[in-house]
Amino acid sequence: KTTSKPPPLPSPLRFSKFYQSNMRILVTGGAGFIGSHLVDKLMENEKNEVIVADNYFTGSKDNLRKWIGHPRFELIRHDVTQPLLVEVDQIYHLACPASPIFYKYNPVKTIKTNVIGTLNMLGLAKRVGARILLTSTSEVYGDPLIHPQPETYWGNVNPIGVRSCYDEGKRVAETLMFDYHRQHGIEIRIARIFNTYGPRMNIDDGRVVSNFIAQALRGEPLTVQKPGTQTRSFCYVSDMVDGLIRLMEGEHTGPINIGNPGEFTMVELAETVKELIKPDVEINMVENTPDDPRQRKPDITKAKELLGWEPKVKLRDGLPLMEEDFRLRLGISEE
Ligand code: NAD
Ligand code: UDP
Ligand code: UDP
Repeated sequence: KTTSKPPPLPSPLRFSKFYQSNMRILVTGGAGFIGSHLVDKLMENEKNEVIVADNYFTGSKDNLRKWIGHPRFELIRHDVTQPLLVEVDQIYHLACPASPIFYKYNPVKTIKTNVIGTLNMLGLAKRVGARILLTSTSEVYGDPLIHPQPETYWGNVNPIGVRSCYDEGKRVAETLMFDYHRQHGIEIRIARIFNTYGPRMNIDDGRVVSNFIAQALRGEPLTVQKPGTQTRSFCYVSDMVDGLIRLMEGEHTGPINIGNPGEFTMVELAETVKELIKPDVEINMVENTPDDPRQRKPDITKAKELLGWEPKVKLRDGLPLMEEDFRLRLGISEE
């Protein structure tokens, strides 16, 4: 009696050639604001297969609904503080609440997400030989004493404040990335993201752009936190996603600042929103929260030189795109 032999396996060479141009990409936090826009962009390339791992703390399946059921897309309910076993070529590690309201809600969980979550994703990158990109933050500069902030600035961060779970958490995440790089030869990329805005931001997450737009549309006073002279620089989400992909695909580990250098005081931002969305809305000055950085603006020389990247969308052009999305979600049509 003869049993038929199984067909020979493809040689490792043929196997790798076959898959060479295909990329399997993990996006942690891919159900969130920036993550879901990143997934949209990655999915445009037919050679990419995208796996999202998200625990839906601040993200939502709704942000990914157009991809659910797509053959090149997979969505896993997963908390990155637990080990994850998947086979991938690249990891965009975004999982972490980004709005102060949410990251302060359960600070211990926030620091676990930053530290244990990043450790797990690095362990995964090590096991499968994947390249990993961390979305760090301008918050690593704390309340900066140098302006604008270059990547060489070490920051001015309170280690025991109410924001520390986030900013110190991200600082440790950056340290872990570099230690895995030096000790285990992992290919790493670190983006230091500055304030980003656009469609799909959580409407009531307390961040300034989403607050002002929702308040203007609801006809409520815009709440400028005192003193109102503090500054931020706002990057539209499509520019951000473009910068992240360039960083991942390029040759430089970073850290590299990705943000829009246009700098505005919170009073200026409120006035711009008022002018563009609801000219008769009131602007109220309200109490601030502790440790609020007084100024923030990225020095993007490195991104320009090393990635050939700079933002294209001006605040005045980005705000109306966000207004449109908020109107739909709030069910408030144009007057
Ligand atoms: P977001 O809150 O919309 O997205 C974060 C996503 O991570 C959500 O989908 C959330 O459910 C998920 N998540 C949180 N904890 C998790 C965990 N333990 N396991 C699995 N999933 C988890 O925020 P965002 O604005 O899209 O930010 C994305 C990344 O960019 C974050 O790492 C954030 O720190 C960084 N960043 C954002 C900004 C900004 O202005 N939006 C600025 C600097 C840095
Ligand atoms: N890890 C993971 N997925 C993997 C490989 C590792 O989540 O595919 C986790 C693992 O559980 C560990 C962490 O990553 O907690 C760090 O892994 P590493 O191998 O670097 O360290 P060790 O397991 O030796 O502590
Ligand atoms: N802010 C404000 N009104 C609001 C929410 C925030 O004036 O309703 C201010 C806040 O004090 C800070 C800036 O806007 O100076 C940016 O705050 P956000 O929480 O959006 O981001 P981050 O502090 O993380 O940069």
